[in-house]
Amino acid sequence: MLGTSSIMANEVLVANLQPLKTGEEDLAFSCALPMNAKGLRVLSRKSYEASAVSIFDNPLASRFDENDALMYFDDVKVPWERVFVFRDPDLCRAQFHDTQGHAYQNYQAQIRLSVKIRFLVGLARRLTEAIGTTEIPSVREQLGHLAAQASMVEAMLSGMEASGSQVGEWYVPNKHFMYSAQVITQDLYPKLVNTVRELAGGALIMLPSSFRDFGDAQIEQIIRKTQRSATMEPEQKVKFLKAAWDAIGSEFGSRHTLYEMFYAGARFVTAGHSFRTFDWKEATGMVDDLLASYQLSDELAAPRH
Ligand SMILES: Cc1cc2nc3c(=O)[nH]c(=O)nc-3n(C[C@H](O)[C@H](O)[C@H](O)COP(=O)(O)OP(=O)(O)OC[C@H]3O[C@@H](n4cnc5c(N)ncnc54)[C@H](O)[C@@H]3O)c2cc1C
Repeated sequence: MLGTSSIMANEVLVANLQPLKTGEEDLAFSCALPMNAKGLRVLSRKSYEASAVSIFDNPLASRFDENDALMYFDDVKVPWERVFVFRDPDLCRAQFHDTQGHAYQNYQAQIRLSVKIRFLVGLARRLTEAIGTTEIPSVREQLGHLAAQASMVEAMLSGMEASGSQVGEWYVPNKHFMYSAQVITQDLYPKLVNTVRELAGGALIMLPSSFRDFGDAQIEQIIRKTQRSATMEPEQKVKFLKAAWDAIGSEFGSRHTLYEMFYAGARFVTAGHSFRTFDWKEATGMVDDLLASYQLSDELAAPRH
């Protein structure tokens, strides 16, 4: 559907991450192709890097935009030696789920996300310092909650590593812990971004239109009067707030929120992985053990109340 960074790729892997059913043979296909294969069209979305005003104004979009693109196959010839799977739904599933492909791919995604969330929580702290609210008890409480959420994500990562297992020559993270982290973090990320916005107020928007405003002596004077902070010089404050906006509000920032909500599949897909890999036998066994520990007939024979 969508290829992140495909505009910079040499090859594309065409495959089905979502398991297919019998009867879906027409879709059960996998191959790898060079990006310049005849008929393969790459329709890039708008580049946030190209529309960034400057590094000062968009420090993230100007340097870290992973451009996404739609991949369009217009009668592309795929040589047989490039085909992995042809009309075989079970082999399509096996490609990711019998190998450790899906586990490793999503494990690295959780490492990446834990770093990103730590960055966002650092951003929240600096935001409250910039606008002078850190010592307000309810703000500290929100920061403490954000810190706990960042640590929860890291703890899930440590958990999936510590309770992983050796599969042949591979050490594989605990798959259910990994899928639960996916389900929980795709909900968590937009909430976390919203909390950071709530902590920031309008400061994220009340900013000079671009770095050029600092080049005009009259405007610069106004900026110095209006962008005051207990902890930052006006220039530093503007620099920081523009970076914060790029992380959580700009087109680049919004795309990141959408990415975290969908990169691993929509909610019903990730929750499906979690459903499949959970130890239901142990959980329902506890319920069954409780129910097996008393009988109606025992109560009737010797009532205790
Ligand atoms: C920024 C970004 C980058 C991406 N990069 C890549 C990439 O590099 N490679 C790649 O392969 N893919 C990539 N994707 C695509 C991603 O894998 C898909 O967005 C994801 O699988 C969800 O599919 P969809 O967007 O078609 O949404 P849909 O499946 O249409 O889901 C949208 C919403 O519709 C509802 N819905 C739809 N079907 C059902 C159903 N059966 N049951 C219940 N609810 C349903 C749900 O509310 C769901 O949240 C990227 C996506 C984004 C947003």
